[in-house]
Amino acid sequence: MLKEMAVGAGVAVMIFLGLRGVDIWPLFLLVGLAGVLFATGLNTRINFGSQRRQVDLGHRSLISFQDIGGQNTAKSELIEALEFILRPDDVQRLGIRPLKGILLTGPPGTGKTLLAKAAANHTDSAFLAASGSEFVEMYAGVGAQRVRQLFEQARQKARQQNMLSAIIFIDEIEVMAGRRGQHHGHLEYDQTLNQLLVEMDGIGVDEDVRVLVMAATNRADLLDPALMRPGRFDRTVRVDLPDRRGREAILLLHTRNKPLDESVDLGQIAAETFGFSGAHLESLCNEAAILALREQSERLTHAHFKAAIDKVMLGERLERRLGREELYRVAIHEGGHAIVGELVNPGSVASITIAPRGLALGFVRQAPHDDRLLETVSELKADIAVCLAGSTAERLLLGEQSTGAASDFQKAWDLARKIVTTGLSTLGVVQEEALSAELLYETIQEIVRDSQELVDELVQSHKPAILQLADILIERETLPGEQVRALMAA
Ligand code: ATP
Repeated sequence: MLKEMAVGAGVAVMIFLGLRGVDIWPLFLLVGLAGVLFATGLNTRINFGSQRRQVDLGHRSLISFQDIGGQNTAKSELIEALEFILRPDDVQRLGIRPLKGILLTGPPGTGKTLLAKAAANHTDSAFLAASGSEFVEMYAGVGAQRVRQLFEQARQKARQQNMLSAIIFIDEIEVMAGRRGQHHGHLEYDQTLNQLLVEMDGIGVDEDVRVLVMAATNRADLLDPALMRPGRFDRTVRVDLPDRRGREAILLLHTRNKPLDESVDLGQIAAETFGFSGAHLESLCNEAAILALREQSERLTHAHFKAAIDKVMLGERLERRLGREELYRVAIHEGGHAIVGELVNPGSVASITIAPRGLALGFVRQAPHDDRLLETVSELKADIAVCLAGSTAERLLLGEQSTGAASDFQKAWDLARKIVTTGLSTLGVVQEEALSAELLYETIQEIVRDSQELVDELVQSHKPAILQLADILIERETLPGEQVRALMAA
């Protein structure tokens, strides 16, 4: 607002001077130049020389550990490690080697960048972020030079902001710090990594600015072992996908600024989103709000959240309309999945739809009762049965199968393979490499065949329920799991 008023007043003064016959051009140019400098000053990204490569020189980090849901172990490990920065005198008094690097490992979207920003806030450090890919260049020496610049900028930034420490965050570090010697005929990668090691080795306790490097990767196995040597990245913090309580905490954080209806049960949404990362959950809350906006609803309802889960999992709903016959086939197929799903795993069906989304023409979403980290052989076999149920319903109710089950079969095959390779099949404990391809194939086929027999029986004895469910789906397109259970109980 102030900015607009200043611009307005400036223009008025210029017009006034112009009317009084004063030559306003030099003044005009001066003001223009000041404007450009001001706008550039707002952008806190430093250009390394090439336009694409930029390092984020963010201002003081505003993210705190309270803004990160779940990840309690990662947070407390990190906070403990940061004591080194917060108690420099004790570190020096006891002759402790300063902590130079912390590696955050884990799947994408789990909050690694957030943790690094919160670490900067917690320790009152200047924060700089860069990505491993920004250091990879065609020309030898450029990546190494960028690494040098990054460390220099970190120190400079901290001094400018009157801070005693700086945190450099390098995302996707595996891109610049993969095992040396692997990039055939391309020493550039190795030089860049060497420079990073040199810079880290050069970090001292008695510097005016203490530098801490935090790096993130989801492929720690690709990193050069020299990077993990004590004195470099000597702390590794795992940042895993959130568990059910973590998911609920993240949902709570991302709905803080949204009006929620009384119907919303975030605990249940958390239970239905096993496997979602923090980024997925943020997107879920956003999608729920967009749905509320589309429906011109004052508040976000539970139904908005449920629909948003499907959207995040499968993608945007497609406008494509199927013909009557094809739509009925999809309804029978999904009906088969849902009914068998409820039979082998009661209470598991969360929703069923024949609205095409992403690559799927229809979809049955199953929600586990609890997060599952281990699977028993009967649970795996139940999952195989659910996979086979769609095509079986098509065959037994419509006379023949279609190509729509290809991905179901692939999934069933993968699950059966898991049974064999984890020592749960009739073969007992096996070593995958020593297993002949034929024996592996035959054992998998035997598991799938047994499952198919069971599914045939289940579908045969529940034909009326599947037909009824298909009719309701044609009419309503999407149904919650409770209605499938009510129909089966009737
Ligand atoms: P990548 O490996 O892809 O770089 P990342 O692990 O660094 O991902 P972030 O960039 O920190 O993930 O997270 C992306 C977004 O997801 C955040 O901006 C935030 O909105 C949300 N998010 C992720 N994890 C959490 C969490 N634990 N609490 C709250 N929000 C989260």
